[in-house]
Amino acid sequence: MKLYILCGVLFLAVLGYSPADANTVKFGSLCCGNPNNNKRGCDVKGCGYFGAPRNGKKGVKQKHGGLDIECEDGSTINAPFDVTLNGKSAPYGNSNAIDNGIKLNGEGLCFKLFYVKPDKYYGSLKKGEKIGTLLPMQKVYPGITSHVHVQMCDKSDPTKYF
Ligand SMILES: [Zn+2]
Repeated sequence: MKLYILCGVLFLAVLGYSPADANTVKFGSLCCGNPNNNKRGCDVKGCGYFGAPRNGKKGVKQKHGGLDIECEDGSTINAPFDVTLNGKSAPYGNSNAIDNGIKLNGEGLCFKLFYVKPDKYYGSLKKGEKIGTLLPMQKVYPGITSHVHVQMCDKSDPTKYF
């Protein structure tokens, strides 16, 4: 048995229990309040799955390039496994209220988290340590299911890691 403190809550974890395929990396909890990484379904602004349709600029049809994990505005975002922080990565570049994020490496994966204000942009974190805070999505997309967007650096589908 090993003790973990995550999101201020004490957990007991039994070591050695691994229901997932041992060859596939799995993300630990990203967002406080969503310990199981529940995925965003569909809402007034669209759906959260990889490849979901999106309307781009001037009506151009685009596809959702990541996977959305439910997370309330202002929630703490934690490292899903031991990670290295590799600088800012913003989704829009328009400096709106949610235009921030970070690029990370860990478990052999390179990925980005959008709509997060990181506490720092470089360095390393252990699994469960705080990366930052979810930005106020409801200010920009009222009625959306607030979420953190997970996108692989190579644009591949991250769903298998969840
Ligand atoms: Zn997304």
